[in-house]
Amino acid sequence: TSEHVKILMLAKRATGNAARFAGRSLLLPHLLPSPRTPYHQLPLSRPLSAMSSAEQAAAQAATKLADLPPDEAPPTIFDKIISKQIPSNILYEDNDAMAFRDISPQAPTHFLVIPKVRNGLTRLSNATEAHKMLLGHLLYVAQHVAKQEKLEPGFRVCINDGPDGCQSVYHLHLHVLGGRKLSWPPG
Ligand code: AMP
Repeated sequence: TSEHVKILMLAKRATGNAARFAGRSLLLPHLLPSPRTPYHQLPLSRPLSAMSSAEQAAAQAATKLADLPPDEAPPTIFDKIISKQIPSNILYEDNDAMAFRDISPQAPTHFLVIPKVRNGLTRLSNATEAHKMLLGHLLYVAQHVAKQEKLEPGFRVCINDGPDGCQSVYHLHLHVLGGRKLSWPPG
């Protein structure tokens, strides 16, 4: 009867809302933020309670990033690479990260993965809770580009931190090296 149909429709709507507010975002993939949306640009206009759990996590991370003290370190050569003021051999780029070949390769394949906005990450040891999603993204990009570069037999990801780590450019970067059997331990 039409009464039954009405009850069924109400039940369906209630289940949908319950799933939504329980944050079961996998059931509602259209509510997830696009992977191409930079973390610091995610919309914050809706109340947290109306967001999926993935959106909530991203929004909270973005709020924390905005609260970070300003990055007062001077710009580096990587800023000019990001803005394309100087040429580089770019292998990958999205809203948050960029990968390009190292100008002084230490292996047949040697590229760097960097965040496009440094936001305090002059070095890995400056990382805060707010950087966790971005750090994971950089590692993900590293393996993605390694596959693109046909490094299936293996590769090494390395981050030099500070004077003892021999860091020379103070804009966080992951070195990805491969294309030959690498020795261990490193010097
Ligand atoms: P690190 O010593 O760990 O700070 O690494 C910095 C890396 O940046 C070195 O391996 C350099 O060869 C590399 N590098 C510096 N300038 C450029 C550039 N213009 N293009 C590509 N790689 C660069």
